[in-house]
Amino acid sequence: MSAPTSPADLVILGGGSGGYAAAFRASELGLDVVLIEKDKVGGTCLHRGCIPTKALLHAGEVADLAREGEQFGVKTSLAGIDMDGVNAYKDGVISKLYKGLQGLVKARKITYVEGEGRLTSPTTVEVNGQTYEGRHILLATGSYARSLPGLEIDGSKVITSDHALNLDRVPASAIILGGGVIGCEFASAWKSFGVDVTIIEALPHLVPLEDEASSKLLERAFRRRKIGFELGSRFSGVQNTENGVKISLENGKEFEAELLLVAVGRGPVSQGLGYEEAGVAMDRGYVLVDEYCQTNVPTVSAVGDLIPTLQLAHVGFGEGILVAERIAGLNPAPIDYAGVPRITYSDPEVASVGFTEAQAKEKFGEVKTLTYDLAGNGRSQILKTTGAVKLIQAVDGPVVGIHMVGSRVGELIAEAQLIYNWEAEADDVASLIHPHPTQSEALGEAHMALAGKPLHVHG
Ligand SMILES: Cc1cc2nc3c(=O)[nH]c(=O)nc-3n(C[C@H](O)[C@H](O)[C@H](O)COP(=O)(O)OP(=O)(O)OC[C@H]3O[C@@H](n4cnc5c(N)ncnc54)[C@H](O)[C@@H]3O)c2cc1C
Repeated sequence: MSAPTSPADLVILGGGSGGYAAAFRASELGLDVVLIEKDKVGGTCLHRGCIPTKALLHAGEVADLAREGEQFGVKTSLAGIDMDGVNAYKDGVISKLYKGLQGLVKARKITYVEGEGRLTSPTTVEVNGQTYEGRHILLATGSYARSLPGLEIDGSKVITSDHALNLDRVPASAIILGGGVIGCEFASAWKSFGVDVTIIEALPHLVPLEDEASSKLLERAFRRRKIGFELGSRFSGVQNTENGVKISLENGKEFEAELLLVAVGRGPVSQGLGYEEAGVAMDRGYVLVDEYCQTNVPTVSAVGDLIPTLQLAHVGFGEGILVAERIAGLNPAPIDYAGVPRITYSDPEVASVGFTEAQAKEKFGEVKTLTYDLAGNGRSQILKTTGAVKLIQAVDGPVVGIHMVGSRVGELIAEAQLIYNWEAEADDVASLIHPHPTQSEALGEAHMALAGKPLHVHG
């Protein structure tokens, strides 16, 4: 394809969640868009992140149900995990969504360019030897799986999530370095597949960005599931052994397993792409932006994992839409990042929106909290899940934090999101009748209790 001679309204570098959302919204608003992608539209989320991990977790849930059918009076047993079958199921989901996304790119009349691009000036990107000029440029090159200094990823015994998603076997044992979202999701899925899993986390808790009460509930549930974890322990080295790897920690402890999954976070993809040369301000590889995702160079914006905001696909969508609407002159409001829902899709799930108790105390001074145990929720008992809903309220004010642990609570975060973002007070939610028997009742009952009119609460 030859490069257009007149500048496009928007040239986007990177077709992941952030880049393609901007492209779709901009074209919807009548802008002329060029989308440049070196691999596959959909990026990390569709091909190496959200979607494949959730497919593995669902396969794990099916395995657990087969293994544990007896507790529901159903005679089942797990004959085994066929990794080829699991991968075929996972890849089938990805490929269907990928086709759909490619169709949307075509239908929106976006100029799609395959190739590796580089920013060559505040208004141009070069790809395949051709220059694409835009009134605006959007940088959306995403992130990669990081490692630690001296810890080399070999792709077979020491792997990242990219490799872990394509394993052709179920390992007998695995060590997971990092107890954040990605580490806990793999620990959960692998345990369901029968892997002997140990998580090593340098901070004092699993999912350390969550409210401490949620971390503790997850830890209790993982203990029950016999998922091992070493908290507050720093990695010091790895050695190859005949059957796998041996990990040493700074506290002198050693662990052996068939493989090591390194899940210590993700770094921005920005090196060698011409950003600094074009005058874009950066910090440790991240592109710096204002609350409208605009860099210090007025024609250049950036979104998604490339900027130092929450590394979530839906944050990328939101930021991409924001940039498209700003460029189109719609005057969109900045994003309230505290109002973005966060979910760890392990078993049990951890979901939250708003502030943790510690953050809320810092921001609002005094706060009131209420914890509603899922033991009082009928649907949760039917599912045999444990956990809780914790609410944090600014005293005499709205609910500013909602934290949940339990099977399927990720689906409840949409209501919690409305409560936080519409600044609802406990009474507002308490007066809404929730359907029975659902897990959503736990949210309703928690607000009833916070409003001083508890229903199914002991003591
Ligand atoms: C294992 C895992 C599980 C996850 N699970 C979830 C989840 O459940 N929910 C959630 O919200 N988030 C999840 N995430 C995070 C989510 O995937 C990211 O936040 C999201 O993909 C970021 O979108 P992005 O557009 O910024 O970057 P990316 O999706 O990484 O897209 C960047 C794109 O840019 C392209 N690119 C890079 N450099 C160039 C170049 N020079 N020229 C052309 N193209 C280029 C890349 O090929 C890529 O397609 C997960 C991530 C991982 C790794």
